[in-house]
Amino acid sequence: MKVYKFGGVSIKDAESVRNLVHILSSDKDNGPKLIVISAMATVTNKLEKLLKAFLNLEGDQAIEILTELKTSHFNCLSELISNSNHPSFDDLANSFVEIEWLLEEGPQDPPDYLYDQIVSLGEIWSTKIIATYLKETGLNSQWLDARNYIITDNNYKDANVNWEKTQSLIEQKLKPILEKQTAITQGFIGSTTENFTSTLGRDGSDYSGAIFASCLNAESLTIWKDVPGVLNADPKWFDETSKIDQLSYHDAIELTYYGANVIHPKTIKPLQNKNIPLYVKSYLNPDQLGTCINETQSVLPVPSFIFKINQVLISIFPKDFSFIIEENLSTIFSLLHRHQVKVNTMLNSAISFSISVDDSEKVDALIESLQQDFKVKYNRGLELVTIRYYNPETIARVSVDKKIILEVKSRHTCQMVMKDL
Ligand code: ASP
Ligand code: MG
Repeated sequence: MKVYKFGGVSIKDAESVRNLVHILSSDKDNGPKLIVISAMATVTNKLEKLLKAFLNLEGDQAIEILTELKTSHFNCLSELISNSNHPSFDDLANSFVEIEWLLEEGPQDPPDYLYDQIVSLGEIWSTKIIATYLKETGLNSQWLDARNYIITDNNYKDANVNWEKTQSLIEQKLKPILEKQTAITQGFIGSTTENFTSTLGRDGSDYSGAIFASCLNAESLTIWKDVPGVLNADPKWFDETSKIDQLSYHDAIELTYYGANVIHPKTIKPLQNKNIPLYVKSYLNPDQLGTCINETQSVLPVPSFIFKINQVLISIFPKDFSFIIEENLSTIFSLLHRHQVKVNTMLNSAISFSISVDDSEKVDALIESLQQDFKVKYNRGLELVTIRYYNPETIARVSVDKKIILEVKSRHTCQMVMKDL
């Protein structure tokens, strides 16, 4: 049994949905599969905007965004299903009722909880449309609610999976269905034990795919993308990139951890634990091989580059010029945790501790908190370059016309925080 995951861009409109169905119907392996699907492209961002308006009591704007979303989903469904009396139209309309009520009521619950109740809807709408169209084209498939299988804690917006409960539900309730037919379900969303919708963090559908694949002991997980596979650098930054045919779990974890955004960083570990291969393939060229990520011993054939812009380098010094000791570090890390700021790289010296983080509003609040106990210097507008399997030549290649402000090297990975000269 295989698990396929399709992201938002691969289902951005009716034509892309037809392409998805074409991939499934022309698949050489015609056994049942689990298809995990994101919200249609840009929908999650729009839902986040809607939520923001709702929380700011700008009800008219929230309703305007909802109307726009409703129109685009209904347009997509009408392009796929010509009979306007088809029951799927009512079904889709029903899935908008709850949010319409919520908007009328006004925000009464905590923002993160509301986030998950509202932003999760994108996946419900997309999967309803695709499941309907799949059925219409004669593919035997069933729409399933991921919230019946993926159980999480109530850390809304970034919920943690309860593996024990999830494993047992998937094994007992989902496996028997998939023995008979293909099913369509949502990425990104789960349910708390009290039956409230939770989400796994932005771009979490890849992770959902891995959770399902792992609990099903699937033969493989395939993530369908608009790139031919995992590349050694993002084409946005590099003219010449090369596709990596085979990648070890370890290298994949390292690359995604440092910010290669081809796969969500949490995806690899559950697959590695069960030795389930992960294929990254192009939905535009489904016959091409793509990248296979598995337990291979082979190291990356080429150095890989990961770029992050909008970095802030924060250097932290004890006020009294004592050493940076465990106690100080523990204060610093608990502040990072409290402000939910993720460290991209760090360097420790006797009297200072430096970190590079993505710039955001959270960083201002973090700096303010740090300043209560420490002397803090910071520098915005920097770039962070990570090179896996670096050598002097690759370092020279990325640092032309740049000043390197901080450099951290391990055996295989070099990270540099830089600014333009
Ligand atoms: N729809 C969610 C997002 O855009 C999850 C995903 O696409 O993986 O973040
Ligand atoms: Mg996505």
